[in-house]
Amino acid sequence: MSTNEDDQELVKHLAKEGGGRVVPSFGYHPWYTFQITLLSLPLPSKHDHYTHLFFPSSSSDSTPPNQQDHQLLLDLLPFLPEPLPLSNLLRTLKENLLSHPTSLLGECGLDKRARVPFPPSYLESLPLSHQQGHPKFTHFTTPLEHQVAVLTAQMEVLEEVIVESNELDEGEDGVVRNGKSRRVSLHAVGCAGVLGGLLDEWEREIWDGKRRWRREVKVCVHSCGLSAESWNQIARKHPSNLYLSCSPLVLHEPSPSCHSPLNAPPGSELSFLPTLPPLFTTSCSPDRILVESDSPDLRWSEEGIWKVVRALARGRGWEVEETWPTREEREKEEEGRVKGVVERLEENWERWMGDES
Ligand SMILES: [Zn+2]
Repeated sequence: MSTNEDDQELVKHLAKEGGGRVVPSFGYHPWYTFQITLLSLPLPSKHDHYTHLFFPSSSSDSTPPNQQDHQLLLDLLPFLPEPLPLSNLLRTLKENLLSHPTSLLGECGLDKRARVPFPPSYLESLPLSHQQGHPKFTHFTTPLEHQVAVLTAQMEVLEEVIVESNELDEGEDGVVRNGKSRRVSLHAVGCAGVLGGLLDEWEREIWDGKRRWRREVKVCVHSCGLSAESWNQIARKHPSNLYLSCSPLVLHEPSPSCHSPLNAPPGSELSFLPTLPPLFTTSCSPDRILVESDSPDLRWSEEGIWKVVRALARGRGWEVEETWPTREEREKEEEGRVKGVVERLEENWERWMGDES
């Protein structure tokens, strides 16, 4: 799954080398949207771009930014990347999605809590004594409106890709006969207030209503931290194409020294909560749950996923299979055979990857 300008090519390469076993995802993650400018020509200077982004009120009401913050920005400027025009990134995104027919859009999304990291080259430029124990993140954040603009633009590209690759064949009865669906991996942190409205907006404004939206797009939300009630409200409006993915992050006990397992040094001991939040155990429909590592680090992906699978089984009262049912046994489902957690997750994965809802 790609996240920024640099790893789109890496994912493409992995998909090629993987010989069909790798499902690539192309997109721009909210953690990197601070690098992106919505303007194309003329491109803003670094100073203008980052000032506008990190001190939005100073550009609208002429209040100068806090001097200390402004000085920090000036110190970081030589190490921050030149602003990347969104239009260029969207062009690459479209090419990649079109040339990989099974690819997903992602990982894209919204993260209100994400802070902009100190550029590694800035940290390396500090005297050694300052490098040790230096925080990894600044307190600068990317405004949610900026993230929404980047995300919505990616959804618009996805719609164009679907239209172009499907050769829409709409009969007089209004049925599209050869429509293929596409999937989106949506990171959603601290955006409970806007997520439902955005999904409604995309359905209405980009996909012209329920019919195409439900058939052509499947959205898997992860890291969302929504309450069970908020999820129910959203899922009721998008019953067939909204999935919820459970990752080890929802089981992780936050600690002051380690904000997230993604930031934990390799080999560090992480403490895990014994149960999943009700969002996963009672609220989400059992046929819309997926699991994922949500990690760029293979060293602990397998262990993390297994912890989530077991927690899901405990929370849902599902058995963890010790043997795998034969095809005949699986076909006898109507005779009251109870499915285990792995079989359910496998079915959900196939539903998610397939064209049926
Ligand atoms: Zn994520």
